[in-house]
Formats: sequence, structure tokens, C-alpha cells
Amino acid sequence: MTKSLLNIIILGPQGSGKGTQAERLEQRLHLEHIETGQIFRTMAGKNNALGIKINNLINLKGRLLTTEFVIKILQSYLSKVPKDKGLIFDGYPRNLTQARALDRLLRLFNRRLTHVIYLPISRGTTLTRLVRRRTCRHCNRKFILGVNLKKGATICPNCGGEIYQREDDKPRAISRRLSIYLKQTKPLIKYYKKQGILITIDGEPPIPVVSKNILKYFS
Ligand code: AMP
Repeated sequence: MTKSLLNIIILGPQGSGKGTQAERLEQRLHLEHIETGQIFRTMAGKNNALGIKINNLINLKGRLLTTEFVIKILQSYLSKVPKDKGLIFDGYPRNLTQARALDRLLRLFNRRLTHVIYLPISRGTTLTRLVRRRTCRHCNRKFILGVNLKKGATICPNCGGEIYQREDDKPRAISRRLSIYLKQTKPLIKYYKKQGILITIDGEPPIPVVSKNILKYFS
């Protein structure tokens, strides 16, 4: 087991800035960013039987995929990451079954979790951030309309790609996703607190402030 290797989970409700902060940590700490939602959105964009099935579950119904399926995908993904590169999981695990499955999977790769960063925000913040959230189809960067993206913008300021609103960021899917989070994902906080690896950082302040507060733990 490599002791100094960072293996991090970033946890929090939808819109808490997990993806943005994970991207920043990926750059600063040279980690492999494993964003399960993005992996599945890419699969859902394919015009084959599996793509159509995944699209129906994640985009149209806002449901979770089965743990068995997610673990299979993660295992194949992890087998391609160099052994000496740290990891940051974003969007995984979503429930206790997935957390335990991850413990087993990491052992298989001679790794162990080192930190779980929890970014709490209020329900109101989730709702206001998500309805205004837009994503770039090309570089996958996320923006908030009126904050870091002009209203009506169709071109990504980062790469020039097309800006769109994710199907599951529309109001009907948001409340379903949030209730799944509260019921299934939030209990993980206790699980990781017990293990002594939980770091709680308020997710409400602006992005650079949250980043600074996170990085204090890694300097
Ligand atoms: P996210 O971008 O993390 O909100 O993920 C988008 C969608 O992908 C979720 O609503 C789920 O349908 C699916 N998904 C992402 N990660 C997982 C996971 N760990 N387990 C099951 N489904 C997932």
C-alpha cells in the first residue's frame, strides 16, 4: 500500500461545486479526476442499445444506475490509471453499498481512501444554482448564468464549445436527484466521519474561497 498516495472523494449535494473543486484539485495535486456522471453522460450520448438505456435512466428519469454496473465501469477505468497517480472521485459513491464496494475495489488496486471532502450547501442554494447551471458540450466545464456566464451565452468562454443545459438540471429531475441524495448519499457522511477521514468545508462561499479552504488541508 502506498502511504503518500492521495485517494480522495468529494461529496455534497447537487450544485455544491464538487466538479469545479475536483477539477482544481486534479490540477494542483496531479490527480486522476473520476467523474462518474460525466462517464455515464458520454455513454448516454452514444446511439447504441446501452447508450439509449443509460440516457433513459439518467437524463429522462434522474435515477441512479445499479451499483453492479457502476463498479464494473470503475474497475475498468481504474485499471488504466498509473499506480503512482492519486485519484479524486466525484459523483461516487452515492450510497453505503457503493461506499463498501469502493473500499473493496481500492484494496484490489492496493489503494486506500485518504480524504473525503464534504461540501454542504442549503437546499435553496442547490435549486438556484442548478436551474442556472449550464455545461459545455466540449470541455464539460460548468457555469452559472449571471455569475460566470452571460445570460443567453451559447459559446463556452473556456474553449468555444456549445453551451447547453443538462436534461437532469431541469426542475423535474432536480428534485428527484436531491431527494435521492438526502436519502441515500447523505448517510455516507457519518460513515466517513467514523473512519476519521472526513473534512467538512462550507460550499456556500464563492469558488476561490472554497478552493482555498480545501487546499489548506493539502499544503
Ligand atoms: P451527476 O453528474 O453526478 O449528478 O450524475 C448524473 C447521473 O449519472 C446521476 O443522476 C445518475 O443517474 C448517474 N450516476 C452518476 N454517478 C453514479 C453513481 N455513482 N451511481 C449510480 N448512478 C450514477
